[in-house]
Amino acid sequence: MKLRFWGVRGSVPTPGPDTVYFGGNTSCLQLTDSDEPVVVLDAGTGIRGIGLDLVSKHPDKKEIHLLFSHTHWDHIQGLPFFAPLYIPGYSIDIYGPVHYEKSLEEILDRQMEYTYFPVRVAELQAKITYHELKEEDFSIGGYNCASKYLNHPVLCLGYRFKKEGKSVIYCTDHEPYYNYLGEDDTGEEMGAIIEEQNGRLEDFVRGADLLVMDSQYTEGEYRSHLGWGHSTTKHTIDLVLKTGVKRCSLFHHDPDRKDDDEKKIIEGLQKHLDESPDLIDIFGAREGMEIDI
Ligand SMILES: [Zn+2]
Ligand SMILES: [Zn+2]
Repeated sequence: MKLRFWGVRGSVPTPGPDTVYFGGNTSCLQLTDSDEPVVVLDAGTGIRGIGLDLVSKHPDKKEIHLLFSHTHWDHIQGLPFFAPLYIPGYSIDIYGPVHYEKSLEEILDRQMEYTYFPVRVAELQAKITYHELKEEDFSIGGYNCASKYLNHPVLCLGYRFKKEGKSVIYCTDHEPYYNYLGEDDTGEEMGAIIEEQNGRLEDFVRGADLLVMDSQYTEGEYRSHLGWGHSTTKHTIDLVLKTGVKRCSLFHHDPDRKDDDEKKIIEGLQKHLDESPDLIDIFGAREGMEIDI
């Protein structure tokens, strides 16, 4: 398996000279394996590049599976610019968390109303099939897949892909469970629930060959972003050390973070880990980077 990053930025696209190294497109990844259908994770602005690449260089790859972590703007905004949607002969299966008030199809259709975009969903040429997911196991081609609820202000799923003994996990827009009642509730019951919820995520990522993990904030920044649904670099390192993950990619970079600042943060973490007995490979996700798993 190979995982390629087409968009690594959180919240909003950030083009410009200060983000050239890591990239400014919002969340989008592609999982490939020679005999498997195309798997795309999230449709941030990075998905435009995948569409152009598929159409121009891989015209035989007509089966696409697109999995949404959730429907916040930075994870769906590239969808109308995904070229295969407009070409007959493509089959696109779209997956995302079930919403009880609106269907996934309805949510995605809304951003293609004439008010916002000149082409309607009814005019798309590809064959599109929707799949609404809870926590479950399923398969795509030869991949064994699983979805897991994350802690975010809207229903959000993490995904695990396994094939031939290797595993990759995509886990973005997640904040570790914590006592949101603060000092008003220090009871054992709340503590047990939090521990159980965090433990379930630990089980989900345990032993992964590659974990792509939301690490938007530093510890200092997190203090003013409690409840926003994102993790810190420290949360990520703690999770990785606890679960035996082999490689970890820090993901969903803060839109205010300049390249030099992000490099300093990551170099600091790597230095810290070099001194630790449990040596693990941690790196910052960069647009255009491709990882062999
Ligand atoms: Zn996001
Ligand atoms: Zn989000």
